[in-house]
Amino acid sequence: MRLARFTEFGKKIICVGRNYALHAKEMGHDLSSKPIIFLKPPTAYLPDGGVIKVPTGCKELHHEVELGVIIGRKGSAIKENEASDFIGGYVIALDMTARDFQGEAKKRGEPWSIAKGFDTSCPVGSFIPKESIANPESLKIWLKVNGKVRQEGNTSDMIYKIPFLISYVSQYFTLETGDLILTGTPDGVSAVKDGDQIEIGINDLSKASFTIA
Ligand code: MG
Repeated sequence: MRLARFTEFGKKIICVGRNYALHAKEMGHDLSSKPIIFLKPPTAYLPDGGVIKVPTGCKELHHEVELGVIIGRKGSAIKENEASDFIGGYVIALDMTARDFQGEAKKRGEPWSIAKGFDTSCPVGSFIPKESIANPESLKIWLKVNGKVRQEGNTSDMIYKIPFLISYVSQYFTLETGDLILTGTPDGVSAVKDGDQIEIGINDLSKASFTIA
C-alpha cells in the first residue's frame, strides 16, 4: 500500500500543541481557546530504529510521544462529520523538541521552527491502516527511556478530538495524501541525552525505538 510509505512523499507534518490538559499544566500554561498549530518539514522524519540527533547548540532535548493521523485523501474545509473519510491510517510518533530553543523563542515571541522542526525531530513507527484501529479516541500511548516508563497517556484525554482537528486545520491548509497530523502529547515529557534509548508504542499494537546521539 502506497500510504505505508507516507514519509517518502508526505508534504506536511502538522502538529498540535497543548492538547492534553496535564501536559499544558506541566509546561506552566493555561489551556488555549483554540488549537495551537505548528509545522515540521518532511526532512524531520526518522524511521523506526533511527538515530535522533541533538540539534547543534541544544542543551535540553525533550521527548513528546504522540498519536499521528495520516491523511488518506486530499481535502480542504473538511466537515467534522466527514473527517474520518480523510483518515488513511495512524502512526506512533515523537515530537522531539529542543526545549531550550523553544523557551527562548517563546520569550522573544519568535517562531518555534528550529526548536520543533530540526532534522530527526519527527521519529515515526510503522504505518497502521485505519481499519486496524476501531477507536482512535481510546488508545494508550506510552514512552520509555532506557526501559523506564516516562509517558503513559490515553488519547481519550485529548482536548481537541481528531475530527475537530482535521476540520480545523483543513480550513487553512489543504490536506494531501500522506500528510501527517501529530495530535499532541500527554504529560511526562522530560530531557534525554546522548546514548539514551527511546521506545514508544500504542498499547501493544505498535512499537518503535530510537537512539539519541
Ligand atoms: Mg508536541
